[in-house]
Amino acid sequence: MSIFSGKLPGVGSSIFTIMSRLAHKENAINLAQGFPDFSCDPMLLDLVEVHLKGGKNQYAPMAGVPALREILADKISSSYQQKVEPNNITITSGATQALFTAVSAFIKPGDEVIVIEPAYDSYVPAIKVNGGVPVFISLSAPEYNIPWERVRAAVNDKTKMLIINSPHNPTGRIIKQQDILALEKLVQEKEILILSDEVYEHLVFDGEKHESVLQSDVLKPYAMACFSFGKVLHATGWKLGYIVANEELTESFRNVHQFTVFSCNTPIQYAIADYYKEKVYLSIPDFFESKRKLLREILDQSRFSYLPAEGTYFQTVDYSSISAESDFEFACRITKEHKVASIPISSFYHNKKDEKTIRLCFAKKESTLERAGEILSKL
Ligand code: PMP
Ligand code: GLN
Repeated sequence: MSIFSGKLPGVGSSIFTIMSRLAHKENAINLAQGFPDFSCDPMLLDLVEVHLKGGKNQYAPMAGVPALREILADKISSSYQQKVEPNNITITSGATQALFTAVSAFIKPGDEVIVIEPAYDSYVPAIKVNGGVPVFISLSAPEYNIPWERVRAAVNDKTKMLIINSPHNPTGRIIKQQDILALEKLVQEKEILILSDEVYEHLVFDGEKHESVLQSDVLKPYAMACFSFGKVLHATGWKLGYIVANEELTESFRNVHQFTVFSCNTPIQYAIADYYKEKVYLSIPDFFESKRKLLREILDQSRFSYLPAEGTYFQTVDYSSISAESDFEFACRITKEHKVASIPISSFYHNKKDEKTIRLCFAKKESTLERAGEILSKL
């Protein structure tokens, strides 16, 4: 094989890049890539300035700033009724790095990793770069329930890890207590690692509660849970997150983290540590639920039908009564002709399964949602 052949030939640009680029080119409203179009809390920005100007500008400790890990440990212990020590937490450069490093730390060539689809786009490349083999379990609209019997049946001697994501991007589905019980049963029978992507932990609506793998004693030896400050602080560009795991898993994680990233942005870690004292994250569900309500009221006037979305800042909609085009063609055409960009759900499936659904991001100002809604309701 040529020395010039890389490890991920032909992956191309991510769908988020493709649709954001198209939105920009077409001057369209971008409901595609998941990021807010409003700014973060001025108090947080002031805190960043305090620490930047106060000299917190050199390397942070490898695992993260202690003050931040302490406040996170308290937060996790009170949210999930499980004692977590600061030393179980490692600050990462976004959840993407946490996921990638967790896979790199454990997956060896030939190991199988179960991926539940639709799946966030970074999981499979992380598995493949490490020589792992993704094994897909496909969910179906509109319920997207995890078929635990099929997951169980997919586990064999080569299976090392299962990746789960709740609240789920792109469907908004959240796992329930019975899913945690099914996971417990699975690890008791089969002994596999669980990598749990919980970046939307605070974006859970309708009075429901986020079920974290961290709340389970049974899962503790097997589970790593990753989080993103980007979602909580409305600051996706800061690329800071963290991973939580028991001592043994944390050690293996840090063995790789230490030599790939070493440590993450220092002043912002100090600023978040101060900011989290205010527990501002508790107001997030109401904040985003009112945006979901606005988007749904608009969609009620349209020919789109919306699917359940119990969490995240995404609403998946079915456009089959508007067009028979593929979801990618539809999303591109609507961006070009009507100036609203979205994400086709087929891009979250390795086989591009097309259920005539697209994802709309409602982490936007009311005026943005109203402008987009006016257009969508005329289609
Ligand atoms: N997992 C999911 C499900 C996501 O939606 C995202 C990004 N929005 C990430 C991981 C990556 O988070 P980060 O931007 O902190 O890397
Ligand atoms: N997580 C964001 C989304 O789902 C995208 C992040 C990215 O562009 N990689 O839209």
